[in-house]
Amino acid sequence: MWDIIIIGAGITGTFIARELSKFDLRILLLDKENDLSNGTTKANSAIVHAGYDAKKGSLKAQLNVKGNAMYDQICEELHVPFKRIGSLVTAFTDDELKTVKTLYERGLENGVPDLHLIDGKEVLSLEKNINPSIKGALYAKTGGIVGPWELALALAENAIDNGVKLKLNQEVTDIQKTVAGFQVRTKDNVYQGDIVINCAGVHADTIDGMVHEKSFEIIPNRGEYNLFDKSVGDLVNTVIFGCPTQAGKGIVILPTVHGNLLLGPTAENLDNKEDTKTTFHGLTTIGEYAKKTLREISFQNVITSFSGVRAKVATEDFIIEEVIDCSGFFNVAAIDSPGLSAAPAIAEYVVQLVTAYCDKNHKALKNKESFNPHRRANINFMELSLQEKQALIKKDPRFGRVICRCENITEGEIVDIIHRSGGATTVDGVKRRARPGSGRCQGGFCGPRVMEILARELGTKIEEIVKDGVGSYILTGKTK
Ligand SMILES: Cc1cc2nc3c(=O)[nH]c(=O)nc-3n(C[C@H](O)[C@H](O)[C@H](O)COP(=O)(O)OP(=O)(O)OC[C@H]3O[C@@H](n4cnc5c(N)ncnc54)[C@H](O)[C@@H]3O)c2cc1C
Repeated sequence: MWDIIIIGAGITGTFIARELSKFDLRILLLDKENDLSNGTTKANSAIVHAGYDAKKGSLKAQLNVKGNAMYDQICEELHVPFKRIGSLVTAFTDDELKTVKTLYERGLENGVPDLHLIDGKEVLSLEKNINPSIKGALYAKTGGIVGPWELALALAENAIDNGVKLKLNQEVTDIQKTVAGFQVRTKDNVYQGDIVINCAGVHADTIDGMVHEKSFEIIPNRGEYNLFDKSVGDLVNTVIFGCPTQAGKGIVILPTVHGNLLLGPTAENLDNKEDTKTTFHGLTTIGEYAKKTLREISFQNVITSFSGVRAKVATEDFIIEEVIDCSGFFNVAAIDSPGLSAAPAIAEYVVQLVTAYCDKNHKALKNKESFNPHRRANINFMELSLQEKQALIKKDPRFGRVICRCENITEGEIVDIIHRSGGATTVDGVKRRARPGSGRCQGGFCGPRVMEILARELGTKIEEIVKDGVGSYILTGKTK
C-alpha cells in the first residue's frame, strides 16, 4: 500500500516526487517507458523563461515567475547545469516593436524582475551576430538555460535516495476508486494508493478519463529542432526569440548549457501524441528564420534534428487541481510551455494541495528528518586538475580509458552513471546522463563501446541492450 502514486516521470512527476520525499510518506513513481524523462522533458528548448508570456492571473504566469526564481538553489543542490544568460525577444519591424512593448507591460504585470526595452544598438552590443537591421528587443535578464533531462534525472535520483520507489515499464491502463483509495493497474501489476497524482504529459487526459468522465482534451503540438556542433555554440550569447505570433512564442536561437547551438521549435497540431518525427517543412521553416535573424549561419554544422510534443489544451493554462468528483486524485496536466520553467513552483503548489487534502482527512504530513537535498555531482573527468585525474585513474583505471572522443568521456564516468539510483540501462540513457554520443559523430564510434559497458555492468547479453525506448534493439545476431 502506497501513500502516494505518481504517474509519469518527466520533469513534473520527478519534481513532485522529490518535493514530497521531504515528508514521511511511501511514494511510488511509475512510468510507462524504460527510462526516466523519456517524454516531452527530453525534447524541448531548455529555456527557463522569465515569465512575460502568459496572461496575468493564469497559473502559467504565477508559477513561471516563481519557478524561475527557484532555479539557482535547486540546480546548486542537485549539481545540474543552469546558466542565467538572459533572453531577447527581437523586433525587426514597427509592428514587432509594438508586440515587444505589449510583452514588456505583461511582464511587469506578472512581476518579472529585471525586464528592459532596448534599442537596436543595444541589441547589437549584446549580440554581434544578429542581423544589423534589428530595431529593438525585450531584454529579460532573468531568462536562463538548463539541462532539462539532467534536471529530471537528478530530481529522480535524489527522490529515490530519499526513499521514493521508482518503477519503469509500468504503463497505467486502469484506475479504480476503492474504499481504501485507488487501485492502479498496469500490464503486470496492481498498486494500491491513498492518493494518485497524474503527471502523464500528453497522456494526462487518458489517465484523467480513468477516474471520471474525461474533463479535458490534450491537443498534441509538435516542435522541431536542429542542434548544431559546439564549434558554433558561441554564435549567440543569450536566448534569442523571434517575435511571437498566434502560433506560439516564436522560433528561438540559443546556446545550450553544454555549448552547442539550438534552433527551433516549430508549432504544429498533431493527431498522434507520439509523432516525434522531423519534417522537411519544419526544418526549412526554422532554417529560414535563422538566416533572417543572424548575419550568417552554416547548416553544415547541424549534428542532429529532433522534435518534442507539447501537451496543449483549449483553455491554454495548466490544470493543477484535485478532481472535484474524485477525492484524492490530482491532475497536474496540460503542462505545456513554460512547464519546465514553472516546474519547481508546480511541485510546491502540488505539495500545498496534498497537504490540504491530508489535513482534511486527519493525516497531517510529517517532515522527514533524514531528508537530504543534495545529490553528488556527476564526475566530469576532463574538468579535473591533472593531479585529480591521476588520483582518480590510480583508484580506478577505467577513468584512463576514453570512450567518447567527441565529448572526451571516460569509461569510469559511464560506469558511475549506470550505478546511480535511477541509473542508465540504454544507450541513449547513458548519452543523456554522461554525454557519450552527443558530439559530432553522434555515437557512431562510441556506441558499440557503450553497449559493451552496459551489458557488462548490468549483467545482461549485449543483444538485449536497446538504443532508447522499449524494443529499440540494435544488434540482431552474430555475423562472424
Ligand atoms: C517543442 C517544445 C519546446 C518547449 N520548450 C520549453 C522551454 O524552453 N521552457 C519551458 O519551460 N518549457 C518548454 N516546453 C514545455 C516543457 O517541455 C514541458 O512543460 C515539460 O517537459 C512537461 O513535463 P511533464 O513531466 O509534464 O511531461 P513529460 O515529460 O511528457 O512526462 C510525462 C511522463 O508520463 C509518462 N506516461 C504517460 N502516460 C503514462 C501511462 N499511461 N502510464 C505511465 N506513465 C505514463 C510518460 O512516459 C512520460 O515520461 C517545451 C515543450 C515542447 C514540446
